[in-house]
Amino acid sequence: MRPALRILICLALTQFSWGQDTDKKAFFQAPPNSVLTATDLHIHTVFSDGSVWPNIRVDEALREGLDLIALTEHLEYQPHSKDLPHPDRNRSFEIAQGHLGANKNLRVVNGSEITRSMAPGHINAVFIENANALLHKDSLSGIVAANKQDAFVFWNHPDWPAQRLDGIARLEPFHEYLIKNKLLHGIEVVNEHTFSEEALELALKHKLTILGTSDIHGLIDWTFEIPEGGHRPMTFVWAENDSNDALKKSLKNRKTIVWYKDLLIGEAAHIAPVLLANLTGKSMGYEGKTLIANVQLNNLSALPMQLDYLGDYSFLEHGNLITLPPYSSLTLRIRTRNKEANLLLPFRVRNVMIGAKTNPVVPIKVVF
Ligand SMILES: [Zn+2]
Ligand SMILES: [Zn+2]
Repeated sequence: MRPALRILICLALTQFSWGQDTDKKAFFQAPPNSVLTATDLHIHTVFSDGSVWPNIRVDEALREGLDLIALTEHLEYQPHSKDLPHPDRNRSFEIAQGHLGANKNLRVVNGSEITRSMAPGHINAVFIENANALLHKDSLSGIVAANKQDAFVFWNHPDWPAQRLDGIARLEPFHEYLIKNKLLHGIEVVNEHTFSEEALELALKHKLTILGTSDIHGLIDWTFEIPEGGHRPMTFVWAENDSNDALKKSLKNRKTIVWYKDLLIGEAAHIAPVLLANLTGKSMGYEGKTLIANVQLNNLSALPMQLDYLGDYSFLEHGNLITLPPYSSLTLRIRTRNKEANLLLPFRVRNVMIGAKTNPVVPIKVVF
């Protein structure tokens, strides 16, 4: 083959692989017979107060390995409108969708940020059909219109110091009205760089879906230091399959888990099966004639796990605190005193939260 032609083919192949990470590694293993969909449901572009064209949002999400994003421009706040008249509030979504084309590695859904002072503050509606129908003079009508489109609706950054001087998330009567009338389904516990323990407590108390989003305005790489190993906040939706209907059903049934920095946040009932699918133990037998059992502990996820062993055994090479880096394994040499057919090793996962200052315990069962 002529060198020039070879270079051309190589270039074409390289180009094809850009942004199309076909063998992307799962961030987390899903529990059996289910899927975990990696989403970011709060994203801005130049069509509100963001700094990039919508195609960049699609490419960023493809590069990072997300499965689904929603573009959620501020409906009312349009600081670029002099340069970018914006009569149709669906344009950002349409351009992103057009840029994605037939690429099956990502999905884009339509959304909007209904942008109001407190109360209710900023409210996102995703899986909407027509953003223009959400633009109303009063706060309630836009939220009702979103619900008429069978949207999933959540409260953004409820702890935002610009709207909550003390940074404490708390409900106003307006929110209580929305929750009571099933017009508000979720709450951001994580927004961009912040985490709100109070919002997590509100979610658990009022049965709101727990969400974490990037609320990106600039570049994902710069804001979340992706080249240095960072990641944006993601909400994993746990569903029977990855169809939009199944995802929406799971979102409304609160089946989400949020990954934020090195923290995983969710309801205990949803965190437990995900942890069991991602933290596993395998028997490596006993060492010769000794009573020293070897167990391989595996972390199948992108989360570095900080484990605290709560059982009665002691380890030859570890104390009770063990850090298991992402996608790694280590061997525990355990003094079991008797030859056991089964071992039950309970670990508290210190960087997983199921409530304010509350971490779950995972019982690792190992059969010898
Ligand atoms: Zn906002
Ligand atoms: Zn926003």
